Amino acid sequence: MFAQCGMNDSLLKRRSTKRAVTSEGPVQKAARNFPSLKDKALEIHSILLETYGDNEHTPRREPMHELISTILSQRTTWKNEDLAYQRMMQRFGDWAGVENAPVDELTEAIAPSNFAEVKAPNIQRTLRAIRESRGSYDISFLQDLPTEDGLAWLLALPGVGLKTATLVLLFCFRKPVLPVDTHVHRVSQRTGLIGPKVMHEAAHSILLELLPPEPAVLYNFHVNMLRHGQKICTWSRPKCSRCVLAAVCNYFADPDTEKS
Ligand code: SF4
Repeated sequence: MFAQCGMNDSLLKRRSTKRAVTSEGPVQKAARNFPSLKDKALEIHSILLETYGDNEHTPRREPMHELISTILSQRTTWKNEDLAYQRMMQRFGDWAGVENAPVDELTEAIAPSNFAEVKAPNIQRTLRAIRESRGSYDISFLQDLPTEDGLAWLLALPGVGLKTATLVLLFCFRKPVLPVDTHVHRVSQRTGLIGPKVMHEAAHSILLELLPPEPAVLYNFHVNMLRHGQKICTWSRPKCSRCVLAAVCNYFADPDTEKS
């Protein structure tokens, strides 16, 4: 994974040592010594860019694929999400086939995805709503809508929450929004960009205020925070001694900050 995202162990070790051990003063001071949270967010973004690389912001899949796959991805690994998607399309062929399939057959097809019995009817309701609203299963019109209007349209679909809607808008249409998944949320909390009690939906607008409204910045911030949360700042036993963010991290300075 590190090789894929441009980071190697020696670079990681160098950055971690430099920032965690030879910072200009006590770690506690470094963690809080920013003129503003915007400065701290930019520093974190910069460190992660240097560590994981500048990811090219090109759509990875077409918008309907991204939308339905993101529903399938909830509480599911990437591998099982992809398997569920492939099984679904092999079995039903196209979006009309998926919408009109017997729900128990669709549930069985997407079974590699967790909570398939909830997702199957949600996917069918979402497809029905799109077809009834647009006359087809094409959501490329979102490219030409103002961001707020596109967000509102997606959020009105059954089974589509803020994370899914922002992911589709940022990844497929390069709109200036920020998907906050569990990794982005956790790393943001521990480093102190958001407070310990801030929930995912509120985190979206707080983090957007802290970062430049440029899709390429938001995309890289999302992708790199996610990688960092998966590999280093894991839910249990974060690998703080190897972490490039240690010198700017509130949790590293004082683990009790997570509870306050
Ligand atoms: S909690 Fe540890 S692993 Fe997570 S960002 Fe802070 S120093 Fe890094």
